[in-house]
Amino acid sequence: MFSHQLRERVDDCEQASWREELARMSSLKLYRRLKQQLVREDYLTVADSHPQLARSLWDRRCTVDMARLRCGVADIALVRGRRCGVARQQRYCRYCDRESERNGELLWCRAVEDEEHVLLQCGAYDALRRQLDEDIADITGEERMVGSRLVRTRGIGLLDTLQSHCRDDRRAQQDAEWVLTLILAGCILREGERPTARHDALRGVVLQRCKQYCGDVMRARKAWWNAVEGESASETDDDGDDDGGGDGAVAVTSVSGSRVARRQQR
Ligand SMILES: [Zn+2]
Repeated sequence: MFSHQLRERVDDCEQASWREELARMSSLKLYRRLKQQLVREDYLTVADSHPQLARSLWDRRCTVDMARLRCGVADIALVRGRRCGVARQQRYCRYCDRESERNGELLWCRAVEDEEHVLLQCGAYDALRRQLDEDIADITGEERMVGSRLVRTRGIGLLDTLQSHCRDDRRAQQDAEWVLTLILAGCILREGERPTARHDALRGVVLQRCKQYCGDVMRARKAWWNAVEGESASETDDDGDDDGGGDGAVAVTSVSGSRVARRQQR
C-alpha cells in the first residue's frame, strides 16, 4: 500500500515538473496542446499490430516526421527562422510566395510556414490533403439502416470542417486547431464529446493514416525544395533520407491554380 502511494506521489511530481518545463518554452505551444499527459504516445506504436508495416523504413520515416511536427522541430521555415533569428512573422512559406508571384498577386499578406500552414493550408499539398480527407471520411463513416436500406454515411470531413466557418475567425481558428489535433494526435472527438468503444477502435486507424500524411507532406516539401533550389542550394539533408527512392517516395503534384485557403499573419 505504501509503495503504491509512493509511486503515485512520484508520478504526480514528475508530471508537475514536466508541465512547468513545457510552460517555459514558447516553441512548444503546439506540443502542449497535443500532449496532455507524460505517457508514451500511441503514434509510436500504432503500426506494431502490422509487423510488416512496423518494420518498414517508410513507416519509421513517417513516425519521425510526425514526431518532429508535434515537437516543433520539423524542417519548415518557422523552425529554420528560429535558428537564424528571423522574426516569427517573417518566416514565410516560399511555395506560397512563388505561387502568388506567378499569379501576379500582391504579397500583402504572406503566409508564415508553421505546422498549421503546412498541414492544413499550403497549396503545395492540396492533393495529399484531399486524399487524407477522403480516407478519414471513409474510416470514420458508419453503416446505418435507413428504413429497410443499409446506408453508408460519410464520416468526419476535414476539409468541410476547415471551410465551414470561413467568415468567423474565432470559430475558424477553433476548427483548425481541432483538425490539427486530429492529424497530430488522432483525436477524433470534439470538445465535450464523450468517447465510445467505436471511437477507441477507430483512433489507431486514423492515427496511422495521419502519420502517413505527415510523412507524405514532408517528403513532398523536400522534393519541391530540391526541384527549385537544385542540389547545391537544397536544404541540408540532416536525416540522410533519399528523396527519389523507396516505396514511400512522393512526387510533387502540380497544384498550379490552387489557392491558400486562409493566410496567416502572425
Ligand atoms: Zn504555403
